Amino acid sequence: MTETYGNLINGEWIKDGETFDVFNKYTNEPIAKICKADEALTKKAIDNAYETFKNERLSVIERHDILMKAVELFRKHKEEVAQIICAEAGKTIRDARTEVERGIQTFIASAEEAKRICGQGMPIQAMPGIDEKMAFSIREPIGVVCAITPFNFPFNLTAHKIAPAIAAGNTVVLKPAEKTPITAIKMGEILLEAGLPKGFLNIVNGFGHEIGPILTSDERIAMYTFTGSPAVGKLIKNSTGIRPVTLELGNNSPNIIHHDVKDLDRAVELVVTKGFGNSGQACIAVQRVYVHEDIYEEVLEKAKQIAENLKVGDPSLEETDVGPMIGLEEAKRTENWVKEAVEQGAEIVVGGKREGSLFHPTILKNVTEEMKVMCEEVFAPVISIVPYNDIDEVFQKVNDSKFGLQAGIFTSDIHVAMKAAKELEFGGININDVSTFRADILPYGGVKDSGFGKEGPRSAIEEMTVEKVITMHI
Ligand code: NAD
Repeated sequence: MTETYGNLINGEWIKDGETFDVFNKYTNEPIAKICKADEALTKKAIDNAYETFKNERLSVIERHDILMKAVELFRKHKEEVAQIICAEAGKTIRDARTEVERGIQTFIASAEEAKRICGQGMPIQAMPGIDEKMAFSIREPIGVVCAITPFNFPFNLTAHKIAPAIAAGNTVVLKPAEKTPITAIKMGEILLEAGLPKGFLNIVNGFGHEIGPILTSDERIAMYTFTGSPAVGKLIKNSTGIRPVTLELGNNSPNIIHHDVKDLDRAVELVVTKGFGNSGQACIAVQRVYVHEDIYEEVLEKAKQIAENLKVGDPSLEETDVGPMIGLEEAKRTENWVKEAVEQGAEIVVGGKREGSLFHPTILKNVTEEMKVMCEEVFAPVISIVPYNDIDEVFQKVNDSKFGLQAGIFTSDIHVAMKAAKELEFGGININDVSTFRADILPYGGVKDSGFGKEGPRSAIEEMTVEKVITMHI
């Protein structure tokens, strides 16, 4: 018998109505039944979050202490949460543990930021004729925050929304990804146990195209924080009118290895492992790799050797490096993209093989910028390695993308590094590291089709609060 999980409304888990199954992504066995929130229940979740926000407030100290108590409980349940992620997302158990630890750090940083929320003093007297006034601002919680999350980091990316929203003094309606809802439900259980009063977090489960429009059309929701695909991000932005949204969307992450790279082995190791980690299903997973022609053959050979040694298979085994993709359809889509690239002239250096929903780590060469594996978000364990000889030309290629989340460049030339920092059109540039590097406390977010607004606890709190300007005639 698999366990049935409910929806969280006003502090109670409601287990009514239709259910849908969640599967183990490696064995394909059903592991849980999730109650679907219909329109009435979704509205009830919003009512409850709205009324709670109108009638109750948590002090800064209460928010801090609840989040830190949750940290203590997450630590206690760390292995259990990692096993859930491993089963429902197909993430390798080692990566699942890393994700939980990162999510815990996100909670800690949010708790700390709760104590630092403040406005600013403003030099109003700089205006002529108003010597008799003073001005300052305060930051107030925005209201009901609606959080919609993706499948690929079900713990840390949910933490990046819930923890700052609570730290900022808001109430939340969370819609987790339907493929990986158990992790978010566990997070809800732990927050209740940590003392979060009823009404501050409501969780509604179901399919995006069904629940999404109910959530996005309800004017009582003050702000939306979404992480997921650009297509859904656009839908959400188009249907929420003038209410604020933050959108963390996709990328086709470029990485450059210049001829003067200080530690070539480290660069290649990072490019390969961060291209294939989580089966490439990370928005900042390495995808396009541009390598200077002087070191191209050497890089290709080293990358091939590392990829060949990766262990592919059951994500619950300690030795596994690359587990399954989120589903059979996604693995088949990847297979088709690789096949299409090969028909257009690409060559498979290693991989290219699919077994069910496992897609073997794949390196392509002889690709062109027009191939889907280069210009679209591949979101699979597939990287393409491309030679170049002119750094300005490669900067142009890197920028010639509809995406702009993060990019990486390896060089020991400070001028090349600073030119990249200035000229690459991305939300973040990692010098001497890959696009995949993210420190959870830093601001994070893209430009172009990669999104809008910033995450990272401090930035997210700014997005989730309203700066109110106060003037006073003395
Ligand atoms: P998705 O867009 O399919 O789903 C994300 C969430 O949106 C899910 O909860 C889904 O149910 C919901 N949804 C679907 N249709 C909706 C609708 N019409 N209205 C409202 N909500 C709706 O994305 P996914 O497949 O879960 O995740 C993969 C994508 O997420 C990739 O494009 C990846 O790059 C992106 N991503 C971005 C970041 C980032 O920080 N920039 C991080 C992780 C993933």
